[in-house]
Amino acid sequence: MNATIALLPGDGIGPEVIDAAAGVLEATAARHGHAFALTRSPFGAAALRAGEPPLPDGTLRDCRAADAVLLGAVGDPAYSDGPRERRPETGLLELRRALGVYANLRPARVWPGLEGGAALRAERLRGVDMLIVRELTGGIYFGEPRGRSADRAEAFDTMRYSTAEIERIAVVAFESARGRRQLVTSVDKANVLESSRLWREVVTEVASRYPDVRLEHQLVDSCAMRLVSDPGSFDVLLAGNLFGDILSDEAGAVVGSLGLLPSASVGGSGGLFEPVHGSAPDIAGRDAANPIGAIASAALLLRHALDLGAEADSIERAVGTALADGCRTADLAAPGGPALGCAAMARAVLDRLA
Ligand code: NAD
Repeated sequence: MNATIALLPGDGIGPEVIDAAAGVLEATAARHGHAFALTRSPFGAAALRAGEPPLPDGTLRDCRAADAVLLGAVGDPAYSDGPRERRPETGLLELRRALGVYANLRPARVWPGLEGGAALRAERLRGVDMLIVRELTGGIYFGEPRGRSADRAEAFDTMRYSTAEIERIAVVAFESARGRRQLVTSVDKANVLESSRLWREVVTEVASRYPDVRLEHQLVDSCAMRLVSDPGSFDVLLAGNLFGDILSDEAGAVVGSLGLLPSASVGGSGGLFEPVHGSAPDIAGRDAANPIGAIASAALLLRHALDLGAEADSIERAVGTALADGCRTADLAAPGGPALGCAAMARAVLDRLA
């Protein structure tokens, strides 16, 4: 197969983990006889430094022309206090919106060999395998009006959801649950928020079309608690943009590290694939990042955007074998224990691709 994949390394550890994932994509192409053209475009603070907006027109054109996009991360302390249009994160929100990728799929599971190393006791982690379905292009990250008064006396955002937005993301969750363990846990704050009351009503209506899937509603605060106390009880966790963002970082800590989690953003034209983590400025440039979230995102790209399921499986198997063999980056290693750098972990996965 011939395919063009737009790489947006971005900021912080983004370029390091994208180099790792690009190596895995190239090796996979070589082994299976595919021709992947990997292009690289400026994005986030990297674009701002070059005098461009955080999402340059040329970068958006490259993304639209490609079969799929693989993104590292954005965010740079040097730009965090600037005006909204000059913040790296604004570029990411614009890109998701421009590509129309409203469904963000975030699988989180405990890899074999990591049960003892995660934050929770091993017996709590047995069988943890969930899919977070996060609404990505609506909610409080996009709602208008938003702003602050000139005298700094107040600032405000708007949590807004339309029936159509809720319905289409709920359909993604129920369809996903059909291929899994047939349980959807829908997360909201319906005891307080109007947008959550509509969310609950619409999700309940969609559920009536899926009699084979069980639906439960859970308030976001108790969901955060259950994610730690009983993570194995979730199958598909359906949430709006803000709640899904927060809960998926928590899920990362539950399964061992935020650096392990991949994501696929789909529903619009093409697809956007990126690790769940951010630019991690605290470890950037030190070859200390865990590249598995990015490598597993490359696997999701092959499966969802290019329909190359066997190739995706082989990457995930190689990651699983590397972890089962004891390969650990610093975020997974015992405190003070030996750890592989980002590039060495990527090599460990490459060595096991065969
Ligand atoms: P973060 O995800 O960058 O880091 C949180 C913690 O997890 C840090 O201690 C970091 O060292 C660690 N971590 C993250 N990824 C890791 C990896 N692959 N390997 C090992 N450790 C890892 O979140 P933050 O510190 O709150 O945010 C930093 C910047 O990233 C901010 O500018 C934020 O806006 C941005 N951000 C971007 C995205 C994105 O690009 N999708 C997502 C979240 C945050």
